[in-house]
Amino acid sequence: MGEFDFIDWIRSQQAAGGLVVTAAGDDLAVLKWPTDELLLVGVDQVLDGVHFDSQVHSPREIGRKVMNRNLSDCAAMACLPAAAVATVALPAGIGVQYAKELYLGLREAADPFGCVIVGGDTASWAGKLAVTVSILGRSGGIEPVRRSGATAGEGIYVTGALGGSILGRHMNFSPRVELARRLAPLGISAMIDISDGLSRDLRHICEASGVGAIILAEKVPIHGDARTLANRDGKPALEHALHDGEDHELLFCSRAQGLRQLGAIRIGETVAERGVWIQGERNEKGEKGVKEELRPLGWEHSL
Ligand SMILES: [Mg+2]
Repeated sequence: MGEFDFIDWIRSQQAAGGLVVTAAGDDLAVLKWPTDELLLVGVDQVLDGVHFDSQVHSPREIGRKVMNRNLSDCAAMACLPAAAVATVALPAGIGVQYAKELYLGLREAADPFGCVIVGGDTASWAGKLAVTVSILGRSGGIEPVRRSGATAGEGIYVTGALGGSILGRHMNFSPRVELARRLAPLGISAMIDISDGLSRDLRHICEASGVGAIILAEKVPIHGDARTLANRDGKPALEHALHDGEDHELLFCSRAQGLRQLGAIRIGETVAERGVWIQGERNEKGEKGVKEELRPLGWEHSL
């Protein structure tokens, strides 16, 4: 089976319907876009040796991860994933079955959200595997939630426990699209999905919004994976929760009530003074812990 047979196989997996007027197979796909909706566009790539290890992770897992990263960005804006296009640079000789598995991984992630893969491109080369997905989201009656809307005196929330995702969750997480759609109408001023680590992503919100933030150490939900990792490397589990990244939980600011019932966990508040701090745990006498700068130690690609 060659490239063209593979393309035929992909075409056979797709159908027009919904937003899709012409599915993959022509030079471009054709979508019918609701005229009263905003179009949100993003792109995300994963590289062998950086975001996954092809010696360890299956093509299904790799496909799922790159699609889920894009879907998580949709969650971060509270939009609905509508369609996606994918490009794959395959190591020469890896075989069509591998490419099919990658595609099926993309589909496994996208299908539950009604997100249709409407096009793509594959090529093989002497390099390692690289997969890129571009996503099209629609506002679906909810104003997109940006990073820039937070003001002083709001609660800072996360939607789940953090840290230690490298033990496996970074390859297999659930984008919080539905939760974001339920939270946003209650009044979310700024939101992001935690990809680079709480300490770094919170800074992104603070910088975009022109506010500061104080996180309460005792309120940060620590994932069991963070504790496992802490036992192995001797670093405090809290450090993993604050900095590890690839949790893909939502981090947001809000003045609304009733967020806890939806599963949101309040971890601190925004302040007028610029900067990001962490307040240590109270001692036995109930006295406040030390407040120190929360430095951004999360993931950053060096260029
Ligand atoms: Mg993001």
